[in-house]
Amino acid sequence: MIFQLLTLTYEYKLKPTKEQTQEIERTLGVCRKVWNHALRERKDWLNSRKCLVDACSIQSEYIISSDTPYPNYAKQCKTLTDAKEQYAELTTVNAQVLQQVLRRLETAFVDMQRKKMGFPRFKNHYRMRSFVFPQMLKNCWQGSRHIKLPQLGLVKVIKSRDIPEGFEIKQARIVRKASGYFIMLSLQCDVNVPDVLAHGQPLGIDIGLEQFLATSDGEMVARPRFFKTLQCKLRLLQRRLKHKVKGSNNRRKLNQKVARVNQRISDTRKDWHFKLAHHLCDFAGMIFVEDINFKAWAKGMFRLHTLDAAFGQFFSILEWVCWKRGVYFGKVDKDYTSQQCPQCGTHTGKKYLSDRVHSCPECKYTTHRDVAAALVIRNRGSSGLGTSLGEIACGGDAAGGTRRDKKKGGTASVHSAV
Ligand SMILES: [Zn+2]
Repeated sequence: MIFQLLTLTYEYKLKPTKEQTQEIERTLGVCRKVWNHALRERKDWLNSRKCLVDACSIQSEYIISSDTPYPNYAKQCKTLTDAKEQYAELTTVNAQVLQQVLRRLETAFVDMQRKKMGFPRFKNHYRMRSFVFPQMLKNCWQGSRHIKLPQLGLVKVIKSRDIPEGFEIKQARIVRKASGYFIMLSLQCDVNVPDVLAHGQPLGIDIGLEQFLATSDGEMVARPRFFKTLQCKLRLLQRRLKHKVKGSNNRRKLNQKVARVNQRISDTRKDWHFKLAHHLCDFAGMIFVEDINFKAWAKGMFRLHTLDAAFGQFFSILEWVCWKRGVYFGKVDKDYTSQQCPQCGTHTGKKYLSDRVHSCPECKYTTHRDVAAALVIRNRGSSGLGTSLGEIACGGDAAGGTRRDKKKGGTASVHSAV
């Protein structure tokens, strides 16, 4: 049996007083200065190393001596401590909070190299939206209406749900959103929780551009309409933003509107993802999806579609819902799922986006192309577990309809075997 340490994030709405709101904003401001200063330091150092040998520096020159070490996390932490003597403002904010800012910058640079993410950016008021208290008191909940935070004291909070038993609060992130301030608590379970074992009816899921997804049971889930309406609204507002003078009151108001619509889109999407995940778990004991690198995907031809569909988020929500409901969740090799016949395994060659139907030249099995891909995913998942669905591997001579019934018999035996 496999065990894992569980971490969760619970989000609650904060109701800070006027003074506390000012304090949060002030903290965000200091964090922003630290971020921008530390980023400048790293940028200057990097720029000073890439001067071309045969080019003279007519325009500018970075004067950083060659033996100055790179300003890494440890070094910047020390600089921060030293800077406190000079800048009193730095001492007014919790020291750990500021260290977390430097840590985040370090992570941003590591991500850039390892995950090919973009170069970290300087942050303006709108881009610095959150900060972290890396340590929380054991009994930070004071009753059901208040939470005790370092620096801010007792803050009123809407406790929309209880912390699950056995979980401890590890960190707290304060986030400014368009609809107010929120606190995100990272919870950790100290007891190990057993992983779900593979059992029951397998279900393959293929995500796509035309439909949001198709299942191996033949169900198609369309992309919900309401996103389109909200996206249109957003685009309209953003177009208007261009005509407003920078720094003007009207621009600030419009910016707030844009942020509110953005938040509504992400809230509605998340809600829909959760409902869909629960719906899928209603019918399955095991769920298999393709193992896709969404970062790379989003850069390719699927760019616009994936951004609005947010498949990556859906997969992680699905994984979580599966775990909660005791459904096994597995990822399978993504290659050629749309080019294989789910019935006989024949390689049917590349399909164009316009080919909507899978029709096998060998066994004559015909179905919707996305359902065929979902079936291939399901078969791969099941066989990866060593519970291959007997008759799927053998060559086919029967017609599609009877095949499907036989397959259901096959899965039943899988169920009893585990
Ligand atoms: Zn076939």
